[in-house]
Amino acid sequence: MDLKKLSVFLKENGIPAFRLNQVRDAVYKRFAGSWDEITALPAGLRERLRHGIFVHSVELLETQVSKKRDAIKFCFGLKDGLRIETVLLKLLADKWSLCVSTQAGCPVRCPFCATGRKGLKRNLSPDEITDQFLAAAHYLKAKGGEQKIGSVIFMGMGEPFLNYDSVAEAVRTMADPELIGLGQRHISVSTAGHVPGIRRFARDFPQCNLAVSLHAAEDALRGDLVPLNRTYPLSQLSKALKDYIFSTKRRVFVEYVLLEGVNNSRSQAARLNAWLRTVAAPKYFVVNIIPYNRTGGPYKAPTRERVQLFAGLLEAAGLEVTVRKSLGEDIAGACGQLAGK
Ligand code: SF4
Repeated sequence: MDLKKLSVFLKENGIPAFRLNQVRDAVYKRFAGSWDEITALPAGLRERLRHGIFVHSVELLETQVSKKRDAIKFCFGLKDGLRIETVLLKLLADKWSLCVSTQAGCPVRCPFCATGRKGLKRNLSPDEITDQFLAAAHYLKAKGGEQKIGSVIFMGMGEPFLNYDSVAEAVRTMADPELIGLGQRHISVSTAGHVPGIRRFARDFPQCNLAVSLHAAEDALRGDLVPLNRTYPLSQLSKALKDYIFSTKRRVFVEYVLLEGVNNSRSQAARLNAWLRTVAAPKYFVVNIIPYNRTGGPYKAPTRERVQLFAGLLEAAGLEVTVRKSLGEDIAGACGQLAGK
């Protein structure tokens, strides 16, 4: 919701300021999704607001629920007709995690990613990012779900640090106790390795979590898999992460999509371990292995045994490793599958 626009509207129309607080609490705390639901406002005022201000800047067009009911994918329409996707994932039994998009499309163009293949349409505004949360929370509330959204990860469509200002404003709204009120430690931003963004994020949000999509620890291969590596090669990324860890004292989540025959050999596990050690001690990393989800490209998913072998090699080297459960594969809501279809 555009609270600034609402505030101006109320002022210009001589409506007392407490109405702003009523709307803010109804939308950000109780997840009202339409003016009709905000019954604390007089009917006449609701009618006027309906014609001037949107409760949400995103409109739910389609919802898909995975067979196991552990993933829900939303397709949202933006006011200019573009589409984005947002995914609720049940990573913990009692809470949902929300994966939000930061751009319509993505300019990074990782070849294994459905979003990247479409290129960039445009950056999302702060409201378009935050409203993905509000609309998803409204959906859960309308379904009578007891379970709430406990964490947010900026890992949907787009590279968050290529839209830094909007992402920063959305993080502030999500963390603000007067608005959504998630603790900063429950907010994570995932980057493909945008070095200036990592440096700003360390200064602006030292309590939030940082995830880096690495996928390879050698420049030639990483340049193919994550083309942003051609601008910010591993040597620069290493320095930025070293400084991030030094200043925040926080661990970094390292995302590694495992592609059969491309980045999952024994020597590549050893290289990943060696590269991480050039950045910081193993205790500063959690390596999330993400077995590749099919997106129609030339890549193959590794077998379960190959995934376990790769994870085991890293664990034996002293790293904390998690293998991501693939939630939502049947609804194309898994990592790298968001395409805004
Ligand atoms: S993996 Fe992330 S950075 Fe790469 S193209 Fe997809 S959305 Fe963009």
